[in-house]
Amino acid sequence: MKAVAVFPGKAGSLHLADLPEPKLDDIPDGKGVLVKILRCGLDGTDKEIAAGEYGAAPDGFDFLVEGHENFGVVLETAPNVTRFKPGDFVVCRVRRAGGSLYDLLDMPDMTTDQEYFEHGISRVHGFLTEAYVEDERYLILIPEGLKNIGVLLEPTSVIEKGLTQAYEVQRRLKVWQAASAAVLGAGTIGLLASMGLRNRGLEVTVFGLDEPPYPNSDLVEAVGATYVSTKRTTLEAAGAARRFDLVFECTGFSPLVFDGARNLLAKNGVMVLSSVTGGQRTTEVPSDAFNLDMVLGNKVMVGTVNANREHFEQGVRDMALSEARWPGWFGRLITQRVQGLENFGEAFQALSEPGNIKVVVEIASG
Ligand code: BGC
Ligand code: ZN
Repeated sequence: MKAVAVFPGKAGSLHLADLPEPKLDDIPDGKGVLVKILRCGLDGTDKEIAAGEYGAAPDGFDFLVEGHENFGVVLETAPNVTRFKPGDFVVCRVRRAGGSLYDLLDMPDMTTDQEYFEHGISRVHGFLTEAYVEDERYLILIPEGLKNIGVLLEPTSVIEKGLTQAYEVQRRLKVWQAASAAVLGAGTIGLLASMGLRNRGLEVTVFGLDEPPYPNSDLVEAVGATYVSTKRTTLEAAGAARRFDLVFECTGFSPLVFDGARNLLAKNGVMVLSSVTGGQRTTEVPSDAFNLDMVLGNKVMVGTVNANREHFEQGVRDMALSEARWPGWFGRLITQRVQGLENFGEAFQALSEPGNIKVVVEIASG
């Protein structure tokens, strides 16, 4: 079976690898589901892995098959599978259980283990291949009506977890009524966060670098949010004018957290940090002001990574609601489709082209 793989840690090592066909009894207890992969999205994490900056190979392999934003159709199920049948459309969760208490409770996104397992990222092969077999507990059913956008569920699950965490944290206030949110970054995660916040009834302002209008700012406005270019209005100026109950940081630029972003956060507010910054960047921090502001304002920052079942399921509901409110909005996020695994070079190239939002590899039709 064809697969697109890297030698982790080695830049420029993307290549076509050969994987053995998966079998139902690769998974114990008769719980295996065989899935034909139809398409797979790419993101910044995939790019970092291809550049040798991130990622780890599974035990017994020197390569890692890339791709975690998956979508497929069930071909066959083992005898004890109860939730799926052939023909069902499914998305597979990215993280697999490790050994901590949270893993045992089906919350591997909250693992306290040092090493974790993520399809296409860390120690488990990904979905830039033709098929996989996975335990039914890791699969999410995608309704037929969402099959064209189901490949966007995994990134959606990431923002759903971030928002759920923010609301959970704010239960400390007993009466939190979030009215406004600022989203920092207008890439895929920023756009999806805006969608999720609008579906929860907040007034949303998205701060991005580029000057509008461009496709991302159009998508922001299409969900009834406001786009502001930081070339015109700095975060400092924006924060002096008004503050937000919730700030969602997803720029990938960590210095913002300690200065620009915290200036935007209202008293009692919550800031969600979602950028996976694998680099070595340092910055000078106005530490007294930062600390004082957090203390006197009763503010919270919460980090969030990955997602568990409840967040994927919330993502399905948000997709359905969005399709009803803003038909076609999700589909507009996919700006490039590359046909066939063998054209992986073109797909990774497209990932670096400015103007692309989501690049998807079409693997098979179903
Ligand atoms: C993925 C998450 C993953 C994170 C860290 C992101 O790109 O979407 O599922 O947990 O990278 O590896
Ligand atoms: Zn991702």
